[in-house]
Amino acid sequence: MSRLVMKFGGTSVANVERIRNVARHVKREVDAGHEVAVVVSAMSGKTNELVAWTREAGSHANNTEYDAIVASGELVTAGLLALVLRDMGMKSRSWQGWQVPILTDDAHGAARIEKIDGRGLVEGFGSAEVAVIAGFQGLHAKTNRVTTLGRGGSDTSAVALAAAIGADRCDIYTDVDGVYTTDPRVVPKARRLDRVSFEEMLEMASLGAKVLQVRSVEMAMVHKVRLYVRSSFDDPADPKLGTLICDEEDIMEQQVVTGIAFSRDEAQITLRDVKDKPGVAAAIFGPLAEANINVDMIIQVVSDDTTTTDLTFTVTGADFDRAKTILEGQRGEIGFTRLHGTSDVVKISAIGVGMRSHSGVAARAFRALAEKGINIRAITTSEIKFSVLIDEPYTELAVRTLHTLYGLDAR
Ligand code: ASP
Ligand code: MG
Repeated sequence: MSRLVMKFGGTSVANVERIRNVARHVKREVDAGHEVAVVVSAMSGKTNELVAWTREAGSHANNTEYDAIVASGELVTAGLLALVLRDMGMKSRSWQGWQVPILTDDAHGAARIEKIDGRGLVEGFGSAEVAVIAGFQGLHAKTNRVTTLGRGGSDTSAVALAAAIGADRCDIYTDVDGVYTTDPRVVPKARRLDRVSFEEMLEMASLGAKVLQVRSVEMAMVHKVRLYVRSSFDDPADPKLGTLICDEEDIMEQQVVTGIAFSRDEAQITLRDVKDKPGVAAAIFGPLAEANINVDMIIQVVSDDTTTTDLTFTVTGADFDRAKTILEGQRGEIGFTRLHGTSDVVKISAIGVGMRSHSGVAARAFRALAEKGINIRAITTSEIKFSVLIDEPYTELAVRTLHTLYGLDAR
């Protein structure tokens, strides 16, 4: 007998018929004698609808009500699944975040889980009761307010619960059957990976792969949760295991590059003729940091006259306008002559722990992209990944080129 957490995303619970299909997956595990906690997302599209309503009502003034509203989507699916499970002859009950309780800090809209008391769930396991928990939400105890964990947060709910109740496995059921070398919609020859290391998955999720919320991977890595990504659309009687996210040591054959990720949510800002003197970088990046704007790639050009220089950096597409406004406001302090910006850029990244022990991996990419006539606007590298910023229309060509270059195409 094992203890399992099964998490189902929005498309897997999009309507009652699909919820019934989810219940068949749960029944399979219950029939095999396992203790099961299920975490559900809202029906697909639901959270977007709720977010749009809060905007219409003026949510910017109040994040606590935003959370109260957007947390409701998961309540519905948790109740529905519990009902369907009972209808199929299993014992089951729904749990809202505060009932467990899943305690968080008070960063409404992006709260962090601080503590989970899983005793109630475990008690239910004693009488073979399936616990169905609303994902994405928690409680800030001191203020007695509902919080949410940020978009895609039910992955994190699931992993945190798995750690809290000491689950043997956390299965993330989604609409794809695992983690791929890249997005199969862009590269039809993308391959499903049997195993990916936590570190690689963390980079892939941070760099644009949307299959798991970044925080859920961090948490699985810290708490050593055995995490599978698998499909709810497999036959419930005969499902495949999907992709295991695990320690690097548990992967036998390590490729140099494991995957290619890309993010279209990027914008580039260039400041022309910035004064080349101490304190200028602080004048630029200080105010952006204070406004919670993350700056990613930074390039400073060395000038020949040594009095002024050009500075280029990237922010997310969502922060683009805000960043420009802040910089214009600091013009006096920074002293640039012109500000250019474009959001028609995309960041393409190659990820692989094998890069630690192989040199020249990125150089091969630069050559291959040049041969296709793709101009690189910016580059960053770290131990197990490198990223290039290019013009958005070349996204698909660039991703395919790198996918082939590193031998990732399915044969
Ligand atoms: N329903 C929430 C969202 O759409 C949380 C999740 O699905 O993980 O972001
Ligand atoms: Mg998701």
